[in-house]
Amino acid sequence: MYDFAVVGGGINGLAIGALLANRGKKVILFERDRELGGRVKVTKRDGFELNYGLHALRFAENSPLVSICNLLGKGVEAAPLGDSYYYSREGRKYIFPTRQRQFLTTKMFSSYEKSKLVPLLKKIGKSNPEEYLEIPLSAWLMERWMKGNLRKYLELAASSVMVNPDMDTISAGEFIYYIKEVLEVGMNIAVPWNGWGEILGFFKGKIEEGGEILTGTEVKRIEIDGGEAKGAVLEDGRFVEAGNVIYAAPIQELFNLADEKYFDGEYVGMCKNLRPTSGVNIDFCLRERISDERGLIYFEEPVVIGIFVSNIAECTAPEGRQLLTAFSPGDFNDAGKRVKEIREKVLSAYPEVEDKTEFEEVLPLKLVDGVEVNIDQHRKKRPGVRCLSVKNLYFVGDSLSSKGLGGDIGYNSVIELYGLLEPSTAP
Ligand SMILES: Cc1cc2nc3c(=O)[nH]c(=O)nc-3n(C[C@H](O)[C@H](O)[C@H](O)COP(=O)(O)OP(=O)(O)OC[C@H]3O[C@@H](n4cnc5c(N)ncnc54)[C@H](O)[C@@H]3O)c2cc1C
Repeated sequence: MYDFAVVGGGINGLAIGALLANRGKKVILFERDRELGGRVKVTKRDGFELNYGLHALRFAENSPLVSICNLLGKGVEAAPLGDSYYYSREGRKYIFPTRQRQFLTTKMFSSYEKSKLVPLLKKIGKSNPEEYLEIPLSAWLMERWMKGNLRKYLELAASSVMVNPDMDTISAGEFIYYIKEVLEVGMNIAVPWNGWGEILGFFKGKIEEGGEILTGTEVKRIEIDGGEAKGAVLEDGRFVEAGNVIYAAPIQELFNLADEKYFDGEYVGMCKNLRPTSGVNIDFCLRERISDERGLIYFEEPVVIGIFVSNIAECTAPEGRQLLTAFSPGDFNDAGKRVKEIREKVLSAYPEVEDKTEFEEVLPLKLVDGVEVNIDQHRKKRPGVRCLSVKNLYFVGDSLSSKGLGGDIGYNSVIELYGLLEPSTAP
């Protein structure tokens, strides 16, 4: 019998499995795909390492994922981004400030806008985000008379970190939480120097030291009896008994595996109706290097965020070649139109891409982050890591109530659950 059965071999299932295995727990992890990694899966093609879209670590070495690795004795080299740029609709290129001094030197803001920025940041620093959780960011900005490029800057930053271009739904409180953290630790976005494959491999190794990982194995049912989770039933009908079950996939899909009758009706509704973020991603695999830029590249209408990934994580492209990734967040009813728009934006700023593209990988993504952090789905309106009605059933993932945005919600859920299960060693 296993101590823990983990359903899902994405980064969060692997992370919690590794932490528990490191404490001597016997872990079995099931992943229905042939490969581990879920949404950070690494695909190799012609020497390029395609990371299933643009993947960055918010807060670099202060990222909760790095804390998890550190708990396991592993350091993560987070390669910091360089200067970021904003391309206006008129084709002008501005520094998109990500460091304190750039707020004063960028030509993106007028002198008047610069004079408004410092008091605004001070106010944010002192404000209580909880009061604004259900206020749309558009209303919050309007109340503060935010206009012009300063408003554009905040909107682009919010679209990018929240993977949602709709200011009428973004939770101002959640954005303020993020800005407060930026003020505390700096806007250090980074990419793991050795790519994501290395981190996944490390977690895998930890679990396999005393436990087991079964890929290509779908869990069909989480066995529940007398209000207690008993283990997992696999697609071939085999029952694997475990003292605890951790469901490590988007919570919206939980009820495909666990009968709704074991949960409160309102809870089921809350989980099922959580809206994820979505978008379209294009990897441009270039036969030659065309740029030395190492930061994010922002375009508007529609919002497109790009990065020359291989300028930061060199392992993602063969020598002499280059990987440029561009992502557009938001609903896309017509993915073909969005692909065309992304290409147009990228080519307007980097015309060489047209001739130098060896191949392109287009990904229309229904699920980017497990939850859109909007006014109806802020941290107080999402399920926690512990199941209240079924003993020994736990959750990790990026659709839960843990703090942060995007992937950080998932990593923080891992830290939260680990704290609950192993309070003496958790950070
Ligand atoms: C294009 C893109 C860009 C992103 N960019 C960023 C970024 O820059 N920064 C950031 O922080 N986050 C980013 N994210 C979000 C980040 O990828 C996710 O938060 C993270 O990967 C979620 O990991 P997870 O383990 O919780 O879930 P998943 O990766 O979804 O893993 C769940 C796993 O469970 C498996 N599974 C499901 N059901 C079963 C079953 N019944 N039996 C067995 N296995 C099952 C699935 O196959 C899957 O592998 C991005 C996501 C995408 C798609």
